[in-house]
Amino acid sequence: MSAVQSISGKGHAANAETYDVVVVGAGFAGMYMLHRLRGLGLSVRVFEQGGDVGGTWYWNRYPGARCDVESMQYSYSFSDELQQEWDWSERYAPQPEILKYANHVADRFKLRPDIQLDTRVDRAAFDESANIWSVTTSDGKTVTAKFVVLATGCLSNAKVPEIKGLSDFKGKVYHTGHWPHEPVDFAWLRVGVIGTGSSAIQSVPVIAAQAKHLTVFQRTANFSIPARNTALTPEERDSSRSNYPEIRRIAREEMRNGIVQELPDRGALDDGANARRAKYEARWAYGGLTFMGVYNNLVLDKAANDTAADFVREKIAEIVSNPQTAKLLQPDNHPIGSKRICVDTDYYATFNRPNVTLVDIRSNPIEEITSNAVRTVGRDHEVDALVLATGFDAMTGSVAKIDICGRDGQTLNQKWAEGPKTYLGLMSAGFPNLFIITGPGSPSVLSNMIVSIEQHVDWIADCVAYMRDRGLEVMEASKEAEDKWVAHVNEVAHSTLYPQANSWYMGANIPGKPQIFMPYIGGVGAYRQICNNVAAKGYEGFAMAAAEQVQKMAVSS
Ligand SMILES: Cc1cc2nc3c(=O)[nH]c(=O)nc-3n(C[C@H](O)[C@H](O)[C@H](O)COP(=O)(O)OP(=O)(O)OC[C@H]3O[C@@H](n4cnc5c(N)ncnc54)[C@H](O)[C@@H]3O)c2cc1C
Repeated sequence: MSAVQSISGKGHAANAETYDVVVVGAGFAGMYMLHRLRGLGLSVRVFEQGGDVGGTWYWNRYPGARCDVESMQYSYSFSDELQQEWDWSERYAPQPEILKYANHVADRFKLRPDIQLDTRVDRAAFDESANIWSVTTSDGKTVTAKFVVLATGCLSNAKVPEIKGLSDFKGKVYHTGHWPHEPVDFAWLRVGVIGTGSSAIQSVPVIAAQAKHLTVFQRTANFSIPARNTALTPEERDSSRSNYPEIRRIAREEMRNGIVQELPDRGALDDGANARRAKYEARWAYGGLTFMGVYNNLVLDKAANDTAADFVREKIAEIVSNPQTAKLLQPDNHPIGSKRICVDTDYYATFNRPNVTLVDIRSNPIEEITSNAVRTVGRDHEVDALVLATGFDAMTGSVAKIDICGRDGQTLNQKWAEGPKTYLGLMSAGFPNLFIITGPGSPSVLSNMIVSIEQHVDWIADCVAYMRDRGLEVMEASKEAEDKWVAHVNEVAHSTLYPQANSWYMGANIPGKPQIFMPYIGGVGAYRQICNNVAAKGYEGFAMAAAEQVQKMAVSS
């Protein structure tokens, strides 16, 4: 137990463990937040519901799981020693290696003593009389803290679909986002995979190679680009390492999505058909997420977008030998890139295997799951094991699971009932001293997330230091600044093609969830500038107060 001083130097209530900051979650966000706050000399407790650090990479152990931002970029930049000493083996590291990296970071920076594993945060309530948060955890304890940081992850609340009969299924059921730690052997089994998003697209080729038979149940066909994954040579690693300062600067400041790539100077319709095709071919051959960066208007102009979408549809038709299967795999109900684009190794080619079947559940929905089959209209697809690759209640799901009570007894779930409202994705009015990392209203899932995580963590740490140095106790987003920001996020989203898709960016994969475009599309560089300007102007749009002024602030905010 640690009895510590608050950032204002006052002691806290007796009997409760008390910290300057409680951080919820020990993925990349929570770990770096801990490191920065400890560097400020603050007392910090991190609670993590999982059995170890790593977040996404602790939970998502499904076959084929790997990053789809290249590892030399999908890695922390805050420590030059760390980025110089770590060897990534492949262009896109597999999950076990990323988890090993997370563990290495925890050990190298001696983070573990301040991280309490296997402990879920269930409740956080703000005590307005003491300006302090009480945080209740699954072990029945309550601790208090001046600040709470939600590092709970955008893709951490696995979505189990509500399908009639699922609990009656006699075989094993796995969710890709909650995969067992022990190896899963599909040899000699008939396996069903439900869902065809990113996790399915990564796992289907690997499961197909093991299973006796694989049936893939597809509601929405998604666009996928070949990863062209390969081992990294020492020369490639050294080339990135020796240029890291510039690579990281470009990712942070010049790229919309935090991934370094050549920036196009023209739109898709500015080139003739042959030149356009050659550019698409080159990016297809290069592989990966940068495919959407061939032209500067692919997410803005439907006619431009169609040229890229048609190209990928043609590629699918070339790869998949059965024309009916190819047709089903060709996405036809959303612009390319408006749903998260996927990156694969042999996904489409897997449907040429004799042991793989594709079932279209858009036209022929799943009616129920029986003890040994997935039943669609008029047909039972017999399976021995089921893989739910059904994604996450994204961006807000893990926050919503915590009972967070702010000013005047209002809960965050009440406030966000019609969709999340934040100022800069960092704070929500009425919830003082509560920060969110990569929250809705920030670039977050539209970016290389480590770039966005590091930016948020640094901003929050600098803000807490600013408050401490000035004897300020409470900080809160103003309602006015929040409303303006929410309107801006919405306006920018609607100037693009993104809202045209029923995507998880919109909350469309969760029945009953309000459909609002959640991440900020303005780009990580522009967004960083906005956040820096806000800080430079004394945290414009936030009210900050010393203890004696807090009452007044609560009334006026
Ligand atoms: C399969 C997969 C592949 C991905 N690939 C990429 C990629 O290539 N590039 C990229 O930029 N992003 C990728 N992402 C997104 C990825 O989530 C982020 O890159 C990053 O790992 C997020 O880190 P985080 O710390 O913010 O969240 P997480 O890693 O999700 O960690 C949050 C942690 O908070 C814990 N938690 C949540 N609620 C509570 C609670 N109430 N109490 C206690 N603990 C709690 C969770 O258990 C979790 O461990 C991928 C996501 C998935 C699912």
